[in-house]
Amino acid sequence: MSELITENVEKKTVLNIGFDDTDSPKGMCTTFLAYKLVDLLKKQRTEFLDFPRLVRFNPNIPWKTRGNGAVSIKIKTSNPSKIKNQVKNLVSKYSDTKNGANPGLVFFESDSIPHEFTEFSDLALWQLIHRSNAKKFAKKNNLEYFYKGNGQGLVGAIGAIGYDFKDHTLELLSYRKKQKFGKERKISIQSVKEMQEKTYPDTFNSFDTKKGRVLITPHGPDPVFFGVRGENVSSLVYASKIIKSDEKLDGYMIFKSNQGTGDHLKNELTFETMKPYASGKLTGIVSNSPKIVKGGHVFFKILSNNNEFWCAVYKPTGMSVIASDLIQGDKISVGGGVRKASKNFPRIINLEFIEIISLKKQITTSNPICKKCNKKMKSKGKGQGFQCIRCGKKSSRKINQEISRNLQKKLYLPKVSAHRHLTRPQQRQGIQNKSKIFKNSLSWFCVYEN
Ligand SMILES: [Zn+2]
Repeated sequence: MSELITENVEKKTVLNIGFDDTDSPKGMCTTFLAYKLVDLLKKQRTEFLDFPRLVRFNPNIPWKTRGNGAVSIKIKTSNPSKIKNQVKNLVSKYSDTKNGANPGLVFFESDSIPHEFTEFSDLALWQLIHRSNAKKFAKKNNLEYFYKGNGQGLVGAIGAIGYDFKDHTLELLSYRKKQKFGKERKISIQSVKEMQEKTYPDTFNSFDTKKGRVLITPHGPDPVFFGVRGENVSSLVYASKIIKSDEKLDGYMIFKSNQGTGDHLKNELTFETMKPYASGKLTGIVSNSPKIVKGGHVFFKILSNNNEFWCAVYKPTGMSVIASDLIQGDKISVGGGVRKASKNFPRIINLEFIEIISLKKQITTSNPICKKCNKKMKSKGKGQGFQCIRCGKKSSRKINQEISRNLQKKLYLPKVSAHRHLTRPQQRQGIQNKSKIFKNSLSWFCVYEN
């Protein structure tokens, strides 16, 4: 006789939770709120359907908080209303509204994410999205949403739920104990260097070997102790064990992220889309001689689809030397953020990469050379031709000489210390992390027992 399987009839729904802009330059951090939230949900044996997602949006908008990163969490629950209340309380508790945070929180119950969300998210990655558009979107799509302050955080909250990962990286963020918030971070520099050597290329941008500088520790008062970026859970957990510090930490959480994907620069900038604070790329021909200004910054123009655009390359990016070697006629592809027009300059793109597609031959003219004596001839006066002072041989015209270029046909990136969260580092060029595997059994979350 076959046995009847008694199924758990408890109805479960998929709940997406998105939030953003809970932090301020003075303290809290949206990822820490996520860590606290996951801790709370874990204690209730909540089923997680993916890593917490840390999505970085357009880094070139002026009113972003530190990194312009939003978080979304996807869970399965039989009691969504209880969880919503808990989340609302946590967001209120951990939002630094006194110091300028404008938190936004969105709930969306569905396993699949409608394309409207993805489109909204896509735009927030490279354009300036006003909070009124987010509020309109929330109303139109019947979302449950909450905000404090001006509600700018709603943009990231919706965007983080809608973001469609074509590529991703992971980041292991470790958190400090409360009594250490705001105190100096002491970490063994040697151990970070060692960690990079042992885990590269499965981790990236941890240590600046040229300057001997640690890149994984933030400098502000937020609760993050360090963040290691990489491609998979096991490499990150291994990396975190190599890093040495005397400080007893609270725990860590691994986020899935679009950091290191260059996703904000994938859209084409045109005369129409080149609005202030937009990010993107364009291809064109260098149309003037680069000018080097005080401070070592370089400015030049590029002609693309019959429009001329100014480009700026700032000294700290390390790419100003590259830019100053460009000449009229070079074909290049550039990416970056659009800066508003100022008194001295029209709209200008601050470059985040320069890719050289083809180099124009650089020709210089000089006095002819006497082949017999192997010496440069002297001019006999304007329009009088040239003559060798040793043997007297004459020539009527100057000669053209090709000067070898210092540049190569390749992609030039800012130096590692000048990378933004979204910058795709050299080692990630041409690769795509497509792994969709998520298991609760992975070591993606840990509160240390100490
Ligand atoms: Zn001669």
